[in-house]
Amino acid sequence: MENEETKVMIGLEIHAYLDTKSKLFCSCPTNVNESKPNSLCCPVCLGHPGSKPVLNEKAVELGTKVGLALNCKINQDFFFSRKTYFYPDMSANYQITQYEIPLAGKGFVELGDKKITIRRAHLEIDPAALIHPSGMGQSNYVLIDYNRSGLPLIEIVTEPDLTTPDEAREFLITLENILSYLLVLKPETTLKADCNISINGGNRVEIKNISGFANAKKALTYEIKRQINETKLGKTIEQHTRAYNQETNTTIPLRKKETEEDYGYIFDPDLVKVNLTDEYLNKIKSSMPELPKEKIVRFIKEYNLSEYDAKVLCSDFELSNLFETIVKKGASPKITNQILTREFLSILNHDSLNFNQVKINETDIFDLVKLIESEKVSDKNVKESMINYISGDKTSPKSYLEKNNLLVDTTIDLDSIVISVIDANPKAKEDYKNGNEKTLNFLAGQIMRQTKGSAQIDKVLEKLKEKIN
Ligand SMILES: [Zn+2]
Repeated sequence: MENEETKVMIGLEIHAYLDTKSKLFCSCPTNVNESKPNSLCCPVCLGHPGSKPVLNEKAVELGTKVGLALNCKINQDFFFSRKTYFYPDMSANYQITQYEIPLAGKGFVELGDKKITIRRAHLEIDPAALIHPSGMGQSNYVLIDYNRSGLPLIEIVTEPDLTTPDEAREFLITLENILSYLLVLKPETTLKADCNISINGGNRVEIKNISGFANAKKALTYEIKRQINETKLGKTIEQHTRAYNQETNTTIPLRKKETEEDYGYIFDPDLVKVNLTDEYLNKIKSSMPELPKEKIVRFIKEYNLSEYDAKVLCSDFELSNLFETIVKKGASPKITNQILTREFLSILNHDSLNFNQVKINETDIFDLVKLIESEKVSDKNVKESMINYISGDKTSPKSYLEKNNLLVDTTIDLDSIVISVIDANPKAKEDYKNGNEKTLNFLAGQIMRQTKGSAQIDKVLEKLKEKIN
């Protein structure tokens, strides 16, 4: 195997949109998806000379939470710098970012037994969106939408501690999970990663702006093979920047990699230096929510789950919350876990679906768990009702089992249920006696509900007529 002797070093730079109402340095709103192009702009985010940026405190708060969750040292004194370059998506000709002192310094993320070092995490503005009407490289002109210009980003940079494309993908999934627990991510946005990769101590190649964790893995896998082949041909890998083409699953050269010096960073004189007081920092520390690692420990202890099951549940913020909501309604943790981690996730895997792509109702799962607890449904039918729920007509598992007569007919005392329903509805009894036949259906409905649909309707009607007089 060629890879066994190839030493691979991968470092990631991840960009995430912070969930603030206004942009990083102006009061323009951030709801760019629902807005007309170029409608959410002002002199500040358009980079007009003389306009004065003012730092958004919410972005600092969210960024600090990210730093703390990634075990970073928070730099309480920091400032912003201008990264100068010419490009139409950056009308001021510089990006306001952090260079010399980032908001968050060195930290780490645990990946199983391994610690991936975080070099830094800093705040910066997003550039405008360039729109190529006929597709990249196919258009005679490019449109620019400045709505995105100035949106608050956090950039998280790792050391090149990752050694395989799989590990890089796992890191991205783990990081996204931590960020989702923190509730700092702008909804309906995705993480974007720049992947730096070198083999056998050679030069670093950067693959820019990859969306999707599977794509990051594919791009890295391709790039390792490409670099191995180049080296075999006696070529030297030059330091440069590439782009990943999803359609061809290849990477293509973009430009020679700029060095940090090329950007001519300077302190932004329009912005003041920031000092986070101890009091402010302590307030944020005390408002930190439960993170995946803590939740796993709690789930094992509180719900008597295996470590494996707790990890699976807590690998998704929404899934872990769903589990807990159902259990708090009074369902068995063991059975709820089985339904969610075995049945549910295996259907998702089978159909290549994400948790967010399906609609799961806590009551539907609770009802199913209750049926299993009272031994009213076989394993086979549990599976069948869940498959229908996720990928079929979406009927709740309970309704599905009832409609298709798949519930086990546990020995029910129909006589006493019939009598109790008649006794509880004296008016319906009178109406029936006075010739209103329809009330019989009403009473039968009550009985069917009480027997959870496992009684025969003909038999119920017969019994009703017998007992009502
Ligand atoms: Zn603005």
